[in-house]
Amino acid sequence: MRILVLLGAPGAGKGTQAHVLARHLALPRVATGDLFRAAARDGTPLGIAAQAYMERGELVPDEITIGMLLERLEAPDAGRGVILDGFPRNRPQADALDRALADRGAAVDAALLVDVPADELLRRLTGRWLCSAAGHTYHETAYPPRVPGVCDIDGSALVQRDDDRPEVVQARLDKQLGALADVVEHYRAAGLLRTVDGRRPIAAVTSDLLDAIEPIPYWRSHP
Ligand code: AMP
Repeated sequence: MRILVLLGAPGAGKGTQAHVLARHLALPRVATGDLFRAAARDGTPLGIAAQAYMERGELVPDEITIGMLLERLEAPDAGRGVILDGFPRNRPQADALDRALADRGAAVDAALLVDVPADELLRRLTGRWLCSAAGHTYHETAYPPRVPGVCDIDGSALVQRDDDRPEVVQARLDKQLGALADVVEHYRAAGLLRTVDGRRPIAAVTSDLLDAIEPIPYWRSHP
């Protein structure tokens, strides 16, 4: 079983890269956020329990998260391996994953960090504006509207979501970056961390990630 862990702060582009790598490597992408959202949509007890935390932007407790993730790893499509996106999010989750994999005679093959400095993350996360009529999305620098403050599609005024305001985003980032640093350190100490510069264009980051896993024998022989 081959396990790649993709790490990155909110706004680093980790999710985008997880999708692309999954296609390149023909492995399923397993994202705990998606699993929680699906469970919430289905109204399962796990989904209902998780929803309150997600709405507050807090981590779902480890007892719930770890159990759900390990169950997902038992599914037939995960037999050859997975790309983990959004897990582990803290040290206890990383330790639990190591233990569970060791029980199966497996281990994390590499942890890939899509690295973006905090000031750039803040710029990316706070630059989002939505049109008030239909929610069409824009970004101040990455995807600006033709006329500032006005939706290209329906001409309505652009507004910023409350949780995209700089002070709210900064608070959320501060909380999450601390836990991410612990996880990064865990994999650095194990000699599994590979860091790529997440400020480069999407395709360049993908190429750097593929280069980073190339020296691992399995990935070289099973591209
Ligand atoms: P994401 O889609 O990765 O941004 O996750 C959305 C939400 O799901 C997070 O804000 C958390 O509430 C929850 N979540 C996702 N992954 C985890 C995790 N590994 N541990 C705890 N909570 C998580």
